Amino acid sequence: MTELRPEPSGLAGRLEVVRERVASAARDAGRDPADVTTIVVTKFHPVAMIEELLTLGVRDFGENRHQEAQGKASALAGNDLTWHFVGQVQGKKARQVRAYAQVVHSVDRESLATALGSTESSIDCFIQVNLTDDPARGGVAPSGLDALVEHVLGTPGLRLLGLMAVAPLGAEPAAEFARVRSLGEGIRRLAPEARFLSMGMSQDYAEAIREGATHLRIGTAITGNRQTLG
Ligand SMILES: *Cc1c(COP(=O)(O)O)cnc(C)c1O
Repeated sequence: MTELRPEPSGLAGRLEVVRERVASAARDAGRDPADVTTIVVTKFHPVAMIEELLTLGVRDFGENRHQEAQGKASALAGNDLTWHFVGQVQGKKARQVRAYAQVVHSVDRESLATALGSTESSIDCFIQVNLTDDPARGGVAPSGLDALVEHVLGTPGLRLLGLMAVAPLGAEPAAEFARVRSLGEGIRRLAPEARFLSMGMSQDYAEAIREGATHLRIGTAITGNRQTLG
């Protein structure tokens, strides 16, 4: 049988599928799809993939390792794109991260907030909440959230957008995201502007949208399986 139209490349096809599912999940939840930003997490994938995603209209990219992110940001300097840093940040790398990232999703302690802050310019950030009992997962424990919010609000150069979280493995994502939504409502007593929620990954973004996610961090559903960079 002859193909009448060329198949879209794997990447373009997966992106299209995710875009349609995001839009329909938003509509099902009574939300405007334009209020949901999809960040494509490109960790372990080469610059060439990011260039292809740029031609497909993607403008928001996520990375979780500083060295890799820094290299990609410098290779792609001059393009109209937004870098979201979604991984754990070492204090001594904070100033380097803020040199290329426009948004840091993983502020989880006061010392990091202080190190990221600057009196010369400002950067957007989310506070990451740890939904597990394992401190190694990153994120502030919910019991420490208010204190960290106050610290971030008092740090020059940080603009608090809201909360970020990763649903724990094996947990029911809808319940976890509902918890993040309610923690987000709680911090708005202190930070009325901090109304955004960074949550939802390849496996659970539809549930996240239902619970009010405004920033999805989607990797493999769009990029395909991660390879290690050579
Ligand atoms: C890798 C990563 C993602 C994307 O994960 P997928 O399951 O590939 O969609 C999202 N958030 C963070 C913090 C990540 O490290």
